[in-house]
Amino acid sequence: MGKKVIIIGAGIAGLTTGIHLQRNGYDTEIFEMHTLPGGLCTAWQRKGYTIDACLHWLVGSSPRDNFYHLWDELIDMKNLPCYEFDHYIVVEDASGRSITVYTDLDKLEKEFLEKAYEDEKIIREFIGAARKLSRFMLPNDVLPEAMSFVEGIHLLWSALPYLPTALKYVRITSKDFAARCKNKLLRKTLEMMFVPDMSVVFLLFTLVWFHRKSAGYPLGGSLSFSQKIEKSYLTCGGKINYRCRVAKILTRGSFPNALATGIQLSTGATHNADIVISAADGHSTLFEMLDKKFLDKNFQKYYSQYNPFPSFLHVSLGIKKTFENYPHLICIPLERTFMVDPETSMDYLNYRIFNFVNTLAPKGKTVISSLLTTYNYQYWQSLRKDNPAQYRNEKKRILDFVIDAAEKRFGGIRKNLEMTDVSTPATVIRYTNNWRGSLEGWLLDPAVGFSQMKKEIKGLKNFYMAGQWVQPGGGVPGALVSGRQLAQLICLRDEKKFVGARSC
Ligand SMILES: Cc1cc2nc3c(=O)[nH]c(=O)nc-3n(C[C@H](O)[C@H](O)[C@H](O)COP(=O)(O)OP(=O)(O)OC[C@H]3O[C@@H](n4cnc5c(N)ncnc54)[C@H](O)[C@@H]3O)c2cc1C
Repeated sequence: MGKKVIIIGAGIAGLTTGIHLQRNGYDTEIFEMHTLPGGLCTAWQRKGYTIDACLHWLVGSSPRDNFYHLWDELIDMKNLPCYEFDHYIVVEDASGRSITVYTDLDKLEKEFLEKAYEDEKIIREFIGAARKLSRFMLPNDVLPEAMSFVEGIHLLWSALPYLPTALKYVRITSKDFAARCKNKLLRKTLEMMFVPDMSVVFLLFTLVWFHRKSAGYPLGGSLSFSQKIEKSYLTCGGKINYRCRVAKILTRGSFPNALATGIQLSTGATHNADIVISAADGHSTLFEMLDKKFLDKNFQKYYSQYNPFPSFLHVSLGIKKTFENYPHLICIPLERTFMVDPETSMDYLNYRIFNFVNTLAPKGKTVISSLLTTYNYQYWQSLRKDNPAQYRNEKKRILDFVIDAAEKRFGGIRKNLEMTDVSTPATVIRYTNNWRGSLEGWLLDPAVGFSQMKKEIKGLKNFYMAGQWVQPGGGVPGALVSGRQLAQLICLRDEKKFVGARSC
């Protein structure tokens, strides 16, 4: 029997780490506070409809990208049909004009030039940068710690042609880049594509994955995707304990010679292990489970200076109607500024229309969802705790607003409405424990840039971290890479040759 490893969290990172460690001879056991695998990568059922609260795109959905092969180590990707989009989003303005963000770069350039010729220079610069990066495959299977000097130089050499572009666009936010456009609708499009405070490089890489036709939607949705990975983990002999919230990481000795020895659950039960891994929320790992005892300067800097992705309200409508002739993602202007909560206003609203899949709603029916981002998670959390009636009223206010705006834009909403569902930042925290209800961990902005966080803590042996809180930029590929790299690192420390390929 190999070393005993406890993993906290059955999100994508925890499951990935578990699969790779099982295959490499470790005896792993996951403790997960929820009743399901997947963490943020989840979905739920309401009145015959499935609400998919996560994946818009899965990087690596086709073999045209390196990530495919890493997913294929976890699950048989041939059995995961994915829908590849021809457009990502359509952004409209109040006068009825629109810009379609095509996933093909040539079509996108043509569309941008047709709709905003006055910004030709910026458009050509932007698309040119995306084209340049489209020739670069991220080396996502290497572990920096395991590389020899020669391998390091070789890697740097292969990345060299792309580094100036990547470094230039990591330093500027989408919002600031968009501000350079004269055309208002193009400005709005570049701003609204993702989070406005993110670096442009995130936008560029996402367009590259779309262009490669390797950022599709896994049919079956987010929870089904997570459950496939859970199944692989169990098939490899892993064990998962659900409804087990970890309260403490047990340590022996003190800094700099401390040793992780196990965990204590919120029930008080303890479990020992040779290695403890937290693939759970980073803030609660460092500040609560480890009692702030191992906060080095680097972690302090992240948690005091860097920005996480915002939290969000997710509103879903189940409608007895089809929406064939609409884009699957549409961003519409609002007649008036809407206050999501006391600190958050919005003048545009997104609708995600699940008209490209038949797995989420019964025949002839459709799920439409809106994601309203907010940094004011405290408002929703306090309201839910201290004033449940007002919390329900506020959810109803948001729901009515989303329904009314949909009615105006699409028509036939209220009379065909069969299901409604509103989740808030309080829901995200309750079910996933993510710091500030963040949807993806650290925002890839100019401050964070391409910085890499350590998966180990100085002065605490036998303890490691994986997941979106140690992989700036987050996302399921980030969770995948961090989990795989961590398994590689543990094998390296134990002088074992890491095997990634599917064997169980
Ligand atoms: C609305 C939305 C849309 C998104 N869209 C995309 C997309 O299109 N593409 C993409 O790549 N990514 C997307 N993401 C981001 C992606 O889902 C996450 O970055 C990724 O799933 C994070 O995985 P993780 O394993 O690192 O963390 P998590 O999913 O947070 O998993 C951590 C797990 O740890 C558990 N846990 C926490 N604390 C404890 C504790 N004390 N004890 C026991 N268990 C604990 C949690 O319950 C959870 O299961 C989206 C996220 C959201 C919310």
